[in-house]
Amino acid sequence: AKSAGKARFSFFTDDMLKDYQRRVDIANAIEYALEHNEFSVHYQAKVTPDGVPVGAEALVRWRSEQLGFVSPAEFIPIAEQSGKITEITQWVINRVCLDVRDAIPRVKRAIPVSINLSASDLKKYHLVGFIKGAFIKYGIPPGLVEFEVTEHSYLDNLDMANRFFAEISAMGCEVALDDFGTGYSSLSYLTKIPIDVIKIDKQFVDNIGASERDDALVLTIVEMGRRLGMELCAEGVETAEQLKFLSDNGCRIIQGYLFSKPLPLPEFLEYLQQVEQK
Ligand code: C2E
Ligand code: CA
Ligand code: CA
Ligand code: CA
Repeated sequence: AKSAGKARFSFFTDDMLKDYQRRVDIANAIEYALEHNEFSVHYQAKVTPDGVPVGAEALVRWRSEQLGFVSPAEFIPIAEQSGKITEITQWVINRVCLDVRDAIPRVKRAIPVSINLSASDLKKYHLVGFIKGAFIKYGIPPGLVEFEVTEHSYLDNLDMANRFFAEISAMGCEVALDDFGTGYSSLSYLTKIPIDVIKIDKQFVDNIGASERDDALVLTIVEMGRRLGMELCAEGVETAEQLKFLSDNGCRIIQGYLFSKPLPLPEFLEYLQQVEQK
Protein backbone atom coordinates (compact mmCIF):
# COMPACT_ATOMS: atom_id res chain seq x y z
CA ALA A 1 0.00 0.00 0.00
CA LYS A 2 2.92 2.26 0.81
CA SER A 3 4.49 1.87 -2.63
CA ALA A 4 1.12 2.41 -4.30
CA GLY A 5 0.83 5.70 -2.41
CA LYS A 6 4.27 6.69 -3.56
CA ALA A 7 3.54 5.73 -7.14
CA ARG A 8 0.38 7.78 -7.06
CA PHE A 9 2.25 10.74 -5.65
CA SER A 10 4.66 10.69 -8.56
CA PHE A 11 1.75 11.52 -10.86
CA PHE A 12 1.24 14.70 -8.90
CA THR A 13 3.16 17.17 -11.03
CA ASP A 14 4.35 20.67 -10.17
CA ASP A 15 1.52 22.11 -12.22
CA MET A 16 -1.03 20.12 -10.26
CA LEU A 17 0.49 21.32 -7.00
CA LYS A 18 0.39 24.94 -8.15
CA ASP A 19 -3.17 24.51 -9.30
CA TYR A 20 -4.12 22.97 -5.97
CA GLN A 21 -2.38 25.75 -4.03
CA ARG A 22 -4.21 28.39 -6.09
CA ARG A 23 -7.55 26.75 -5.31
CA VAL A 24 -6.74 26.64 -1.59
CA ASP A 25 -5.67 30.30 -1.68
CA ILE A 26 -8.90 31.27 -3.45
CA ALA A 27 -11.06 29.25 -1.04
CA ASN A 28 -9.40 31.01 1.92
CA ALA A 29 -9.61 34.42 0.29
CA ILE A 30 -13.37 33.93 -0.35
CA GLU A 31 -13.87 33.57 3.39
CA TYR A 32 -11.99 36.85 3.88
CA ALA A 33 -13.83 38.55 1.00
CA LEU A 34 -17.23 37.81 2.55
CA GLU A 35 -16.10 39.26 5.89
CA HIS A 36 -14.50 42.35 4.32
CA ASN A 37 -17.08 43.12 1.65
CA GLU A 38 -14.73 42.67 -1.32
CA PHE A 39 -17.37 41.63 -3.84
CA SER A 40 -19.24 43.95 -6.15
CA VAL A 41 -21.77 43.52 -8.95
CA HIS A 42 -21.68 44.70 -12.55
CA TYR A 43 -24.75 44.95 -14.79
CA GLN A 44 -24.94 43.95 -18.44
CA ALA A 45 -27.88 45.08 -20.54
CA LYS A 46 -30.22 42.73 -22.37
CA VAL A 47 -31.77 44.59 -25.30
CA THR A 48 -34.19 44.18 -28.18
CA PRO A 49 -32.54 43.88 -31.62
CA ASP A 50 -32.97 47.69 -31.99
CA GLY A 51 -31.16 48.31 -28.75
CA VAL A 52 -34.01 49.00 -26.33
CA PRO A 53 -33.04 47.71 -22.86
CA VAL A 54 -35.41 45.04 -21.57
CA GLY A 55 -33.35 43.66 -18.71
CA ALA A 56 -29.94 43.33 -17.15
CA GLU A 57 -27.80 40.52 -15.81
CA ALA A 58 -26.02 40.93 -12.48
CA LEU A 59 -22.47 39.56 -12.67
CA VAL A 60 -20.36 39.33 -9.54
CA ARG A 61 -16.90 40.91 -9.46
CA TRP A 62 -14.13 40.33 -6.95
CA ARG A 63 -11.02 42.30 -6.24
CA SER A 64 -9.21 40.41 -3.51
CA GLU A 65 -6.77 42.12 -1.19
CA GLN A 66 -4.46 39.08 -1.38
CA LEU A 67 -5.02 37.86 -4.95
CA GLY A 68 -6.01 40.93 -6.97
CA PHE A 69 -8.81 40.61 -9.51
CA VAL A 70 -10.21 37.07 -9.73
CA SER A 71 -12.70 36.13 -12.44
CA PRO A 72 -16.04 34.55 -11.45
CA ALA A 73 -15.32 31.81 -13.97
CA GLU A 74 -12.44 30.83 -11.66
CA PHE A 75 -13.81 31.47 -8.17
CA ILE A 76 -17.48 30.49 -8.51
CA PRO A 77 -16.68 26.78 -9.05
CA ILE A 78 -14.30 26.89 -6.05
CA ALA A 79 -16.96 28.61 -3.93
CA GLU A 80 -19.36 25.82 -4.92
CA GLN A 81 -16.94 23.12 -3.83
CA SER A 82 -15.99 24.81 -0.58
CA GLY A 83 -19.62 25.36 0.41
CA LYS A 84 -19.42 29.17 0.24
CA ILE A 85 -21.50 29.77 -2.86
CA THR A 86 -24.81 30.38 -1.13
CA GLU A 87 -23.26 33.08 1.05
CA ILE A 88 -22.05 34.77 -2.14
CA THR A 89 -25.49 34.32 -3.74
CA GLN A 90 -27.14 35.90 -0.71
CA TRP A 91 -24.68 38.78 -0.86
CA VAL A 92 -25.51 39.29 -4.56
CA ILE A 93 -29.27 39.15 -3.88
CA ASN A 94 -28.97 41.86 -1.23
CA ARG A 95 -26.75 44.00 -3.45
CA VAL A 96 -29.12 43.71 -6.42
CA CYS A 97 -32.15 44.57 -4.27
CA LEU A 98 -30.38 47.66 -2.91
CA ASP A 99 -29.32 48.69 -6.43
CA VAL A 100 -32.81 48.14 -7.89
CA ARG A 101 -34.33 50.21 -5.08
CA ASP A 102 -31.87 53.05 -5.77
CA ALA A 103 -32.29 52.80 -9.55
CA ILE A 104 -36.11 52.83 -9.73
CA PRO A 105 -36.51 56.61 -9.20
CA ARG A 106 -33.65 57.34 -11.61
CA VAL A 107 -34.90 55.56 -14.75
CA LYS A 108 -37.95 56.14 -16.93
CA ARG A 109 -38.90 52.51 -17.08
CA ALA A 110 -37.60 49.95 -14.61
CA ILE A 111 -36.22 46.75 -16.16
CA PRO A 112 -35.79 43.38 -14.47
CA VAL A 113 -32.37 42.28 -13.25
CA SER A 114 -31.38 38.64 -13.36
CA ILE A 115 -29.29 36.90 -10.73
CA ASN A 116 -27.28 33.75 -11.42
CA LEU A 117 -27.90 30.75 -9.17
CA SER A 118 -25.55 27.78 -8.78
CA ALA A 119 -26.36 24.10 -8.51
CA SER A 120 -25.83 24.03 -4.74
CA ASP A 121 -28.14 27.01 -4.23
CA LEU A 122 -31.03 24.88 -5.46
CA LYS A 123 -30.47 22.46 -2.57
CA LYS A 124 -30.86 25.27 -0.04
CA TYR A 125 -34.59 25.55 0.21
CA HIS A 126 -34.23 28.31 2.81
CA LEU A 127 -32.87 30.48 0.00
CA VAL A 128 -36.45 30.87 -1.30
CA GLY A 129 -37.42 32.39 2.05
CA PHE A 130 -34.30 34.56 1.98
CA ILE A 131 -35.30 35.91 -1.45
CA LYS A 132 -38.87 36.65 -0.31
CA GLY A 133 -37.47 38.36 2.78
CA ALA A 134 -35.14 40.53 0.71
CA PHE A 135 -37.98 41.66 -1.57
CA ILE A 136 -40.04 42.67 1.44
CA LYS A 137 -37.13 44.31 3.28
CA TYR A 138 -36.15 46.47 0.29
CA GLY A 139 -39.64 46.92 -1.17
CA ILE A 140 -38.80 45.27 -4.49
CA PRO A 141 -41.62 44.15 -6.82
CA PRO A 142 -40.71 40.49 -7.54
CA GLY A 143 -41.28 41.12 -11.27
CA LEU A 144 -38.10 43.22 -11.28
CA VAL A 145 -35.89 40.28 -10.35
CA GLU A 146 -35.26 37.16 -12.42
CA PHE A 147 -33.05 34.16 -11.95
CA GLU A 148 -30.70 32.32 -14.29
CA VAL A 149 -29.67 28.73 -13.72
CA THR A 150 -27.58 26.63 -16.05
CA GLU A 151 -29.23 23.71 -17.77
CA HIS A 152 -26.59 21.53 -16.13
CA SER A 153 -27.35 22.71 -12.57
CA TYR A 154 -31.06 22.33 -13.18
CA LEU A 155 -30.82 18.75 -14.45
CA ASP A 156 -28.39 17.71 -11.71
CA ASN A 157 -31.11 18.44 -9.15
CA LEU A 158 -34.25 18.03 -11.22
CA ASP A 159 -36.75 17.40 -8.40
CA MET A 160 -35.26 19.97 -6.07
CA ALA A 161 -34.91 22.51 -8.85
CA ASN A 162 -38.55 22.02 -9.83
CA ARG A 163 -39.67 22.63 -6.27
CA PHE A 164 -37.36 25.63 -5.92
CA PHE A 165 -38.44 27.31 -9.15
CA ALA A 166 -42.13 26.52 -8.72
CA GLU A 167 -41.98 28.79 -5.65
CA ILE A 168 -39.84 31.36 -7.42
CA SER A 169 -42.30 31.47 -10.35
CA ALA A 170 -45.27 31.70 -7.99
CA MET A 171 -43.66 34.80 -6.45
CA GLY A 172 -43.68 36.38 -9.92
CA CYS A 173 -40.01 36.08 -10.87
CA GLU A 174 -39.05 34.78 -14.29
CA VAL A 175 -36.53 31.98 -14.62
CA ALA A 176 -34.04 31.55 -17.45
CA LEU A 177 -32.18 28.43 -18.48
CA ASP A 178 -28.56 29.48 -18.94
CA ASP A 179 -25.90 27.97 -21.22
CA PHE A 180 -28.64 26.07 -23.02
CA GLY A 181 -27.46 23.23 -25.23
CA THR A 182 -23.96 22.87 -23.80
CA GLY A 183 -24.71 19.65 -21.90
CA TYR A 184 -25.84 16.37 -23.32
CA SER A 185 -29.37 15.63 -22.39
CA SER A 186 -32.70 14.56 -23.67
CA LEU A 187 -34.95 17.52 -24.37
CA SER A 188 -38.05 15.94 -22.87
CA TYR A 189 -37.54 17.73 -19.54
CA LEU A 190 -38.32 21.05 -21.24
CA THR A 191 -42.06 20.42 -21.09
CA LYS A 192 -41.92 19.70 -17.37
CA ILE A 193 -40.04 22.63 -15.88
CA PRO A 194 -41.26 26.17 -15.07
CA ILE A 195 -38.84 28.02 -17.35
CA ASP A 196 -39.69 31.32 -19.08
CA VAL A 197 -36.53 32.06 -21.05
CA ILE A 198 -33.87 30.02 -22.83
CA LYS A 199 -30.43 31.60 -23.07
CA ILE A 200 -28.57 30.51 -26.19
CA ASP A 201 -24.98 29.91 -25.14
CA LYS A 202 -22.20 32.08 -26.51
CA GLN A 203 -20.55 29.09 -28.18
CA PHE A 204 -23.51 28.80 -30.59
CA VAL A 205 -23.60 32.55 -31.17
CA ASP A 206 -19.84 32.52 -31.92
CA ASN A 207 -20.42 29.94 -34.65
CA ILE A 208 -23.09 31.89 -36.49
CA GLY A 209 -21.98 32.14 -40.10
CA ALA A 210 -19.34 29.41 -39.71
CA SER A 211 -21.34 26.75 -41.53
CA GLU A 212 -24.89 25.97 -42.63
CA ARG A 213 -25.11 23.39 -39.89
CA ASP A 214 -24.04 25.84 -37.17
CA ASP A 215 -26.68 28.27 -38.38
CA ALA A 216 -29.29 25.51 -38.54
CA LEU A 217 -28.61 24.64 -34.92
CA VAL A 218 -29.25 28.19 -33.70
CA LEU A 219 -32.39 28.38 -35.83
CA THR A 220 -33.65 25.16 -34.36
CA ILE A 221 -33.09 26.33 -30.78
CA VAL A 222 -34.98 29.57 -31.48
CA GLU A 223 -37.84 27.74 -33.18
CA MET A 224 -38.08 25.16 -30.42
CA GLY A 225 -38.19 27.84 -27.72
CA ARG A 226 -40.84 29.74 -29.63
CA ARG A 227 -43.03 26.65 -30.00
CA LEU A 228 -42.66 25.87 -26.30
CA GLY A 229 -43.80 29.41 -25.49
CA MET A 230 -40.42 30.47 -24.15
CA GLU A 231 -38.59 33.71 -24.77
CA LEU A 232 -35.13 33.45 -26.34
CA CYS A 233 -32.09 35.41 -25.23
CA ALA A 234 -28.79 35.15 -27.09
CA GLU A 235 -25.64 35.76 -25.04
CA GLY A 236 -22.19 36.90 -26.17
CA VAL A 237 -23.41 38.77 -29.26
CA GLU A 238 -20.41 40.70 -30.57
CA THR A 239 -20.99 41.36 -34.26
CA ALA A 240 -23.61 43.00 -36.46
CA GLU A 241 -23.76 39.79 -38.49
CA GLN A 242 -24.69 37.72 -35.42
CA LEU A 243 -27.30 40.32 -34.45
CA LYS A 244 -28.89 40.30 -37.89
CA PHE A 245 -29.05 36.54 -38.07
CA LEU A 246 -30.59 36.26 -34.61
CA SER A 247 -33.15 39.01 -35.07
CA ASP A 248 -34.09 37.90 -38.61
CA ASN A 249 -34.83 34.51 -37.15
CA GLY A 250 -36.98 35.55 -34.20
CA CYS A 251 -34.61 35.89 -31.26
CA ARG A 252 -35.97 38.89 -29.39
CA ILE A 253 -33.47 39.43 -26.58
CA ILE A 254 -29.82 40.16 -27.24
CA GLN A 255 -26.97 40.39 -24.76
CA GLY A 256 -23.35 41.03 -25.62
CA TYR A 257 -20.48 43.42 -26.06
CA LEU A 258 -22.04 44.68 -29.32
CA PHE A 259 -24.47 46.66 -27.13
CA SER A 260 -22.82 46.84 -23.74
CA LYS A 261 -20.23 45.23 -21.51
CA PRO A 262 -21.03 44.52 -17.87
CA LEU A 263 -20.78 47.91 -16.08
CA PRO A 264 -20.70 49.17 -12.49
CA LEU A 265 -24.12 50.53 -11.44
CA PRO A 266 -23.40 54.28 -11.99
CA GLU A 267 -22.13 53.64 -15.54
CA PHE A 268 -24.96 51.23 -16.25
CA LEU A 269 -27.49 53.91 -15.23
CA GLU A 270 -25.71 56.42 -17.49
CA TYR A 271 -25.98 53.92 -20.34
CA LEU A 272 -29.72 53.53 -19.68
CA GLN A 273 -30.21 57.31 -19.62
CA GLN A 274 -28.29 57.68 -22.88
CA VAL A 275 -30.35 55.09 -24.75
CA GLU A 276 -33.57 56.49 -23.26
CA GLN A 277 -32.80 59.78 -25.00
CA LYS A 278 -32.46 58.20 -28.45
P1 C2E B 1 -22.65 33.43 -17.65
O1 C2E B 1 -23.76 33.43 -16.68
O2 C2E B 1 -22.81 32.59 -18.87
O3 C2E B 1 -22.40 34.94 -17.99
C1 C2E B 1 -21.98 35.41 -19.25
C2 C2E B 1 -20.51 35.73 -19.27
O4 C2E B 1 -20.15 36.16 -20.57
C3 C2E B 1 -20.08 36.86 -18.33
O5 C2E B 1 -18.74 36.59 -17.91
C4 C2E B 1 -20.10 38.07 -19.26
O6 C2E B 1 -19.29 39.14 -18.81
C5 C2E B 1 -19.58 37.46 -20.52
N1 C2E B 1 -20.02 38.15 -21.74
C6 C2E B 1 -21.19 38.80 -21.95
N2 C2E B 1 -21.25 39.27 -23.22
C7 C2E B 1 -20.09 38.92 -23.83
C8 C2E B 1 -19.56 39.12 -25.15
O7 C2E B 1 -20.16 39.73 -26.02
N3 C2E B 1 -18.32 38.59 -25.37
C9 C2E B 1 -17.61 37.91 -24.42
N4 C2E B 1 -16.41 37.44 -24.74
N5 C2E B 1 -18.10 37.70 -23.18
C10 C2E B 1 -19.31 38.20 -22.88
P2 C2E B 1 -18.30 36.78 -16.40
O8 C2E B 1 -18.94 38.00 -15.82
O9 C2E B 1 -16.81 36.67 -16.35
O10 C2E B 1 -18.95 35.53 -15.67
C11 C2E B 1 -18.55 34.23 -15.98
C12 C2E B 1 -19.47 33.22 -15.37
O11 C2E B 1 -19.37 33.26 -13.94
C13 C2E B 1 -20.94 33.46 -15.68
O12 C2E B 1 -21.26 32.96 -16.94
C14 C2E B 1 -21.60 32.71 -14.54
O13 C2E B 1 -21.64 31.34 -14.81
C15 C2E B 1 -20.63 32.95 -13.41
N6 C2E B 1 -21.12 34.07 -12.57
C16 C2E B 1 -20.94 35.40 -12.72
N7 C2E B 1 -21.56 36.09 -11.72
C17 C2E B 1 -22.17 35.17 -10.95
C18 C2E B 1 -22.97 35.22 -9.76
O14 C2E B 1 -23.30 36.29 -9.21
N8 C2E B 1 -23.39 34.03 -9.24
C19 C2E B 1 -23.08 32.84 -9.82
N9 C2E B 1 -23.53 31.69 -9.25
N10 C2E B 1 -22.35 32.73 -10.93
C20 C2E B 1 -21.89 33.89 -11.49
CA1 CA C 1 -25.95 33.89 -16.67
CA1 CA D 1 -24.79 32.12 -19.86
CA1 CA E 1 -22.15 30.94 -21.06
